[in-house]
Amino acid sequence: MESNFTTKDVYLNHFNPRTYLQTYYTFGPGPSNESQILMHILKKLSETFSSGRVKGDLLIDIGTGPTIYQLLSACESFKEIVASDYSDHNREEFNHWLKKEPEAFDWSSVVKYVCELEGDREKWTEKEEKLRKRVKQVLKCDITQSQPLDPVSLPQADCLLVTYCLESACKDLPTYDQALKNLSSLLKPGGFLVILSALKCSYYMVGDQRFSNLFLTQEEIKAAIEKAGFISEQSEIIPELYSRAYTDNEGALYSVGRKPNK
Ligand code: SAH
Repeated sequence: MESNFTTKDVYLNHFNPRTYLQTYYTFGPGPSNESQILMHILKKLSETFSSGRVKGDLLIDIGTGPTIYQLLSACESFKEIVASDYSDHNREEFNHWLKKEPEAFDWSSVVKYVCELEGDREKWTEKEEKLRKRVKQVLKCDITQSQPLDPVSLPQADCLLVTYCLESACKDLPTYDQALKNLSSLLKPGGFLVILSALKCSYYMVGDQRFSNLFLTQEEIKAAIEKAGFISEQSEIIPELYSRAYTDNEGALYSVGRKPNK
């Protein structure tokens, strides 16, 4: 299994951000698998960040990739957001959107959907502007390092958000456990850890390129979160599948954990 593991240099050189976005984040009016699962994820994120409980000064998004969907509800509850990813091309793609460059991916239908969930579909341009203002930095990050944002040091965050990054970056469960511990150092005591994980997924495709994924069950993910010292507050299955042409996931897991107050 390990021999098929996708190493970091593959993310640097062969992860095509455009193809990834077009494959998994084309949000059409039709009922595609990808749209269905994305809608469910956006609902969960909106519930979390509209609850009034998960808020604060700083949210760090780990393994942001080229996507912004995960930040659309969060930007209402945090003053500052820091995005981060290992891949230079993914940070570049994210920056295209942030800086409103002409080649940026069009997220408008996703933004409109989130605004509708939050009660006002018409406010989507304001939300885009708000998110752009809240994102203060886009940093290099490596979750396998003890200081994932090294050499940058940030104040400990009120919330860490990790969508589909841990299971693609970690080759086995011990590495996954260690990565969670590495991330914990970035979070304040009492801070929230929000994780979206692909469930029972062994690979995913980005165009012709295959990426390995650590096969994990709900029980394994919950146990890893607790083993890293977090209190697990929510562990909810999102049952939708991506198209079978792209990946073999059996749904996703939406987890909210909390770092204990000392
Ligand atoms: N968060 C996005 C992207 C997930 S794809 C989404 O929800 O769709 C997985 C991401 O993890 C890629 O952007 C990849 O560059 C990043 N990644 C892979 N290895 C990493 C590592 N060691 N540290 C940080 N990010 C990593």
